[in-house]
Amino acid sequence: MHIGFIGLGNMGAPMAHNLLKAGHQLSVFDLNAAAVENLVGAGALPVDSPTAIAQGNAELIITMLPAAAHVKGVYLGANGLIAHSRAGVMLIDCSTIDPHSAREVAKAAAEHGNPMLDAPVSGGTGGAAAGTLTFMVGGSDADFDRAQPILAAMGKNIVHCGAAGNGQVAKVANNMLLGISMIGVAEAMALGVALGMDAKTLAGVINTSSGRCWSSDTYNPFPGVLDNVPAARGYSGGFGSDLMLKDLGLATEAAKQVRQPVILGALAQQLYQSFSAQGYGGLDFSAIINQYRKDT
Ligand code: NAD
Repeated sequence: MHIGFIGLGNMGAPMAHNLLKAGHQLSVFDLNAAAVENLVGAGALPVDSPTAIAQGNAELIITMLPAAAHVKGVYLGANGLIAHSRAGVMLIDCSTIDPHSAREVAKAAAEHGNPMLDAPVSGGTGGAAAGTLTFMVGGSDADFDRAQPILAAMGKNIVHCGAAGNGQVAKVANNMLLGISMIGVAEAMALGVALGMDAKTLAGVINTSSGRCWSSDTYNPFPGVLDNVPAARGYSGGFGSDLMLKDLGLATEAAKQVRQPVILGALAQQLYQSFSAQGYGGLDFSAIINQYRKDT
């Protein structure tokens, strides 16, 4: 299939590479010329604007952009993808944005005759490179079925979450829980160590008891508990605290729109905001434990 791909950053580039590897023809655009060159080297065709991607022969267009403002800029308006796409061309936005914006863009696409899916991902840059991402997809049943084989070239779990915007709903709910659970594990580990317990022994107890969760057994924030996690390498790599802060902001903003209390989510957002303000936004989000540890 001929696919247009816009947004070739940390996530978009490896996803686009996997589409090429699966045999698709790709037209690519990014504001960053070096990112485009990288894909051209692997066989993609360079295109110089979203308008040109829309006016080309792509049967499907995928975007992987930083935030809602970029997504609206690329899709809406006189020079946007929607205004220039042929009716029937499917649009898939994989960026993490708020559900409200996702629904606004999907509505504009539908009015122009373009089926659209929101398909944010989980799995990070490692999952993007390995083609094992989880896609949380919002849109109609028929559009989901049409997109499934394409998404399968980039991901392992492709989950239909319901109508437009529901992919983003699943993503913000999951990541809010992840932020909260990481802070909970950090607090419990720091308490145990402050009271005299060995961190690895404590993690072993938690991981076979009722406190067990992904943040404790797969991504434990205490150094020395697990190998091959950011805590074992000075909190480099992984999922940046500023990205967690962004996702917690999306959750609290979305909650405000439906008057839904997210008390721990708001607290988690403030903790990561404080952490970022102290200059640690580039560290993996498990480094939040440094706000608690007394043994360093
Ligand atoms: P990134 O900043 O590395 O890449 C974004 C790319 O979009 C850049 O190459 C940038 O030049 C390009 N871009 C920005 N505005 C553009 C425009 N108007 N037209 C064309 N290109 C434009 O970001 P990323 O890490 O690849 O993340 C992309 C999305 O995926 C974000 O919404 C992020 O929250 C989400 N996400 C990231 C991760 C992760 O681990 N990095 C994990 C899951 C989800």
